[in-house]
Amino acid sequence: MRWLLVPGRPVPNSSEGKDAIMSDPIGELLPPDRLMLTPGPSSVHPRIYRAMSTTMVGHLDPWFLNMMMNEVQVLLREVFRTENRTTFPISSSGSGGIEASVLNPLEAGDEALICVNGAFSARMAEIAERTPAHVTRITAPFGRTVDPDDVRRAGKGKKIKVVGVTHGESSTSVASPLAEYRKVADELGALLVVDCVSTLSGMPIDVDKLRLDICFSGSQKALSAPPGLSPITVSLAAEEVIRSRKTKVQSWYFDLTTTMNYWGQERTYHHTPAIPLLYAFREALRMVMEEGLEARWERHRTNQQAFIAGIEGLGLKPFVENPAERMITVTAIQVPEGVNGKQVQQQLLDDFNIEIAGGFGPLKGKIWRVGLMGHTSRQKNVLLLLAALENVLAVQGHRAPDGAGVAAAIRAYSEAGATAAVK
Ligand SMILES: *Cc1c(COP(=O)(O)O)cnc(C)c1O
Repeated sequence: MRWLLVPGRPVPNSSEGKDAIMSDPIGELLPPDRLMLTPGPSSVHPRIYRAMSTTMVGHLDPWFLNMMMNEVQVLLREVFRTENRTTFPISSSGSGGIEASVLNPLEAGDEALICVNGAFSARMAEIAERTPAHVTRITAPFGRTVDPDDVRRAGKGKKIKVVGVTHGESSTSVASPLAEYRKVADELGALLVVDCVSTLSGMPIDVDKLRLDICFSGSQKALSAPPGLSPITVSLAAEEVIRSRKTKVQSWYFDLTTTMNYWGQERTYHHTPAIPLLYAFREALRMVMEEGLEARWERHRTNQQAFIAGIEGLGLKPFVENPAERMITVTAIQVPEGVNGKQVQQQLLDDFNIEIAGGFGPLKGKIWRVGLMGHTSRQKNVLLLLAALENVLAVQGHRAPDGAGVAAAIRAYSEAGATAAVK
């Protein structure tokens, strides 16, 4: 049956039930103007929208193959801080980056150790477990980092091909010390695969200095581009491993040995990339380099510190107890006793047009997750959210002295000597 969406006709699959009737013709698309303070996607800068709406060309157009793709790769290498020749955006969300990074180096007979301390690192383990390789999960309680010594012990006496770790586990807001896992991976002779989806350009990452073998991210997090691209970089050592596989990679789409040829010198057709997204992504990378990586990391840090001061001023607690284990781009907050976390999120959305996230899995209803990433990591957003939170929490009986959150954040900004850059 073909549904005609015209006034007076029923709406298929309507959340209002079978009897819902279309009252207006389908109009022009007008999404609500939200402030997205979630762990992705983050709000997008107008410059990026402008780039995205410029003229389409073909994916084999000489201008696209030479100028556009080259420029994206040059910028991306700078943002990753790498000279890896294999550095390009994969046509997929961040999860596709996990697929590519895990499927490509692993074959039957291989051993992988995956650090699991939340939902995204568990996703990496799950994807690894779907390969024929043998996978061991090295776990830590949610809210903590995986102890590098546990990884060391688990790999002792074995031939380990891959150690996998998530830099910013945004389901809990825990950050992992990459240099320590590099040390362990070196001792085990393993490649280090790192999920930087929620941290690239918001927290210090230096791919070459840290010698991360495969590192990937997502366009919609701290890079502040729309979702749909997963930038990846592959070291020569990892490339060597991938090129000398005995069997084909299970996935055709995520097979780096062929996608590398489209983004490599040959520019051989593999699939049609999302061209307008690449325009947007190029502009996002340009904005990162214009600001400068160090200045950008500093801006994220200053806003996160002020935000934490603010929530403590409201009588709330960060979920991650140890400040050294906290992410900078995402902060999880404990939902206080007697407060309905979901209702707080709903009211922030309804009354203030602000979207924050809740917890999932075992943390559902127990935490909120706030992303201050990319374009949204700004003083004005921190103060607005704190003011809105104070009001919404008061409705639920959680009261703090008037303006205590905003005042604490302003104090933190002034103590940090925050410059105009954080605004
Ligand atoms: C968001 C996120 C992902 C998943 O990215 P999608 O774009 O939703 O597929 C993976 N890892 C981490 C750490 C993330 O924060």
